[in-house]
Amino acid sequence: MKALAKKALGAKPQNSELPKNILAKPLVISRDQHPISRKDIAEPALKVLYRLHNAGYEAYLVGGCVRDLLLGLKPKDFDVATNASPEQVHKLFRNCRLVGRRFRLAHIMFGREVIEVATFRGHHDDDGDAQKHAKSDAQGMLVRDNVYGSIEEDAQRRDFTVNALYYNIADFAIYDFANGVRDIEAGVLRMIGDAETRYREDPVRMLRAIRFATKLSMRMDDSVAKPIHEHASLLQNIPPARLFEECLKLFTAGKALANFEMLSEYHLFQQLFPMLKSYLQTPDEAPYQMLRQTFADTDSRIQQGLSITPAYLFAALLWWPLQARMEQLMFESGLPPVDAMNIAAADVWGRQVQTVSVPKRFTIPAREIWQMQQRLERAKGKRVQTLLGHPRFRAAYDFLLLRAATATPLERKKLSEQAQFWTEQQKGMQPADKRHDDAPAPRKKRGRRGGRRRGGPRKRPSGDNNKS
Ligand code: ATP
Ligand code: MG
Repeated sequence: MKALAKKALGAKPQNSELPKNILAKPLVISRDQHPISRKDIAEPALKVLYRLHNAGYEAYLVGGCVRDLLLGLKPKDFDVATNASPEQVHKLFRNCRLVGRRFRLAHIMFGREVIEVATFRGHHDDDGDAQKHAKSDAQGMLVRDNVYGSIEEDAQRRDFTVNALYYNIADFAIYDFANGVRDIEAGVLRMIGDAETRYREDPVRMLRAIRFATKLSMRMDDSVAKPIHEHASLLQNIPPARLFEECLKLFTAGKALANFEMLSEYHLFQQLFPMLKSYLQTPDEAPYQMLRQTFADTDSRIQQGLSITPAYLFAALLWWPLQARMEQLMFESGLPPVDAMNIAAADVWGRQVQTVSVPKRFTIPAREIWQMQQRLERAKGKRVQTLLGHPRFRAAYDFLLLRAATATPLERKKLSEQAQFWTEQQKGMQPADKRHDDAPAPRKKRGRRGGRRRGGPRKRPSGDNNKS
């Protein structure tokens, strides 16, 4: 890798017309000069690459998978870029679906695994035909982007230099369009083009900058870091469903605590969770402690191979806003706690889904975890057994432990006693099932011939299977 860096550093000066950090000519790093072997590439991805290649198209692995393989990490997914149009890709593969409005993509299905194939993306700021296919809104944000182009143009449209690396199946070489290999080696995250413009085009890139900095242990270049604070509010223009997907990537992939801290520092967390903003000002107090502990516990469960569920995560994040709203309702309207919680829960979710829309399949179990807290506090006699058998018991018990560990001094004694009570009650039961109850059962290994499972394949984290 050292030799690669040298080669990259010796690159020709950039053409002034090209976006910042883009090379006039790509560096071609031949197979004998890089460590990526076909053994490291998932079989479905290889199949897709070869079929495209054999049909006469260009076919490359691109983006995060090349970056991760160079870093010795296991790629989360394998993405393919080609000069074949989505329709041409569709013709080549029986197991292909065309998806995406913003940019049309081909998804090739292999059982549960999906290989995403994207046609090279072109410039969108030319006159003529391109204008018909690309559109930006008043803030300069791209809303539609269906313009095909060359591999060079495709590289320029990518976000960070380390994400503009292409592994060519034709010669097994890496094509580096933006000194990405040099930046991987130096551990620096640099934007392709002007960072401010790129954030305006797509504000999610700010979240991606933080996620890659923590995931890859890279330092954000000053030009990447500096504009974030000022542009953080642009996240308000992003559809809440997309932000939910980004939150899953940020908080369920083993770096939740680091992401929380960095997102808060750059005022992005406040945009995602406006109800939690005030708690960030008081790091010594219980609500902040609970946030931190939640993220630390999530990371540690992932490290231990235990299941995690976004339902539990969101139940914990919104617990304190729920408490505040409940108290207000009880004080103003004299509602009993059970009713106050129901109304407060509806209010809190109603507000949260305006920025990050959590699907019902998580808000419903999250509510149950909340309701179980009241039941755990009161249960006596026969009800104890009933609660122990409740499908949400394990998550609710863990949640009680979390509350006890991060409680205000006033509440700590009471909650610790309750937690102790439920710990005692479980003694003599079957060894505690450590799964959170709404998480899916661990997957069985597929036989070699595999076969598609019910529910269809899924690639991007969709939340209900994001345990590792
Ligand atoms: P990971 O899979 O670990 O999250 P990744 O870099 O592969 O990281 P993906 O979301 O899978 O991220 O995207 C694949 C590639 O597509 C990226 O490496 C990048 O080149 C490009 N890309 C994705 N999102 C954007 C974006 N918002 N702006 C520009 N390029 C993007
Ligand atoms: Mg990826």
